[in-house]
Amino acid sequence: MYEFAVTPAVTQLRRPGVIITEVSPGSLAEELELAPSDRIVRVNGRSVRDYLDFRFQTAGETELTFQVKKPDGQTIDIEFDRDESEDFGLMFEQIVPRQCANECLFCFCKGNPEDARPSLFVRDEDIRLSFLYGNYTTLSSITEDEMNRIVEQRLSPQYVSVHATDLKTRAYLLGVDEKRADIAEKLQRLLDNDIELHAQVVLCPEINDGAILEKTLRDLAAHYPKVVSTAVVPVALTRYNTDDRLTRVTPEFCQRTIKEVEKLQKEFRKALGTTFAFLGDEIYIKGGVEIPSRRHYGNYPQIEDGVGMVRSFLKKFEALVRTGSGSDRDLLPLRTYDVRTHAQAILPVKSKSPVATAPGSDSGTILTGEMFAPILREQISQFNVSHGTRFHVLAVPNTYFGGDVSVAGLLTGQDYRNIADQIEGDFVIIPKHTIKSDEPILLDGMSFDELKSIFDVPVYDLDTDGLMEFLRLAS
Ligand code: SF4
Repeated sequence: MYEFAVTPAVTQLRRPGVIITEVSPGSLAEELELAPSDRIVRVNGRSVRDYLDFRFQTAGETELTFQVKKPDGQTIDIEFDRDESEDFGLMFEQIVPRQCANECLFCFCKGNPEDARPSLFVRDEDIRLSFLYGNYTTLSSITEDEMNRIVEQRLSPQYVSVHATDLKTRAYLLGVDEKRADIAEKLQRLLDNDIELHAQVVLCPEINDGAILEKTLRDLAAHYPKVVSTAVVPVALTRYNTDDRLTRVTPEFCQRTIKEVEKLQKEFRKALGTTFAFLGDEIYIKGGVEIPSRRHYGNYPQIEDGVGMVRSFLKKFEALVRTGSGSDRDLLPLRTYDVRTHAQAILPVKSKSPVATAPGSDSGTILTGEMFAPILREQISQFNVSHGTRFHVLAVPNTYFGGDVSVAGLLTGQDYRNIADQIEGDFVIIPKHTIKSDEPILLDGMSFDELKSIFDVPVYDLDTDGLMEFLRLAS
């Protein structure tokens, strides 16, 4: 689930240019007297709509003219030269996402409580965010300008929610007419222009499973390697999803799907040399089936969609358990924060690792979602045995969204509050991504400070790599 600022969208969408938010001290931009709140409107006479345009218009250019609107309304032109690789030292406003025009049966917005924060109701469908962050779009309302932009600016790869190549099924799932749902020509045009695609299927029992899923995967695999991979993730319904056209995912459904897709995966590996169609981790966990091997996932092309995360975690954790607390610490494959699926993607700014505030205790509680808890608990038990530590894993039920929601990433402040009296040891760890990346609040609006005040012990917010580093230092 991605969150975006809602309010600025109304004003910023109408203004040309991209707003500077930060100028690095001593940088070229400072020398040019650029400042936060300035808006760069044109580069070498070409208009700039956002950060991506700025990057595209300036790439490789050494002689530049910026047209800049100052906050007082004044417009100035700045002419300058730079070395080809010289960085400007500029940070820009976030891209305000374009909204989708679909009415998907399973849309996450329909699964929110009514009083959820407005940002949780933002339905983004934006090819720029697809390129930058791996957000999926349906391409069903993409404009000619956007299609041209993908090709011209090489916004590749794109992440496309296909759901089904059977048109009737796709239209039904998206809640739009068949004309709008039909993206065959658009996909072909992107492929003809060498734009790489990663596809996604949100699997809804009795709608796009079975023969429809097989057709979808075969149709997509026919375009490999331009269609690089396909993720098949199960629909997750909260207690607010009451649409009776939707059926909940059961363990039996997961087992059946694994069997069906395994046959295709074997075929694809033989014919294409890649698994190509990857099932979401939840399908294996819910089906009680072992997570596939490291080789199954290749270079983890869909890890941004949560596919292969468990195997990736287990591999790293194995190394952690194997590693003693002495001289071989350096063997740990840590500091691989934010692996993204393509080189051009921007890494989110990370706070420092917890090293400086390591707990000074070998006893504490690690909180996670109900789905991942058994896996983490097993690993932590092994770690405790090999390192003599006393870490505990506690599964936190999701009471805010309810229903099938059991992933760690959707835990809220109230969920943590509900288990506050079950904490053991001297600290508590929560999954970092339950806190908004640009603001210290949780999904239900509780501030991180308020959350901390609920517990009697320090609270650390850590991602997977941060957790491993923390354990290593605490042991
Ligand atoms: S594309 Fe569908 S699931 Fe995504 S935001 Fe739009 S309606 Fe919701």
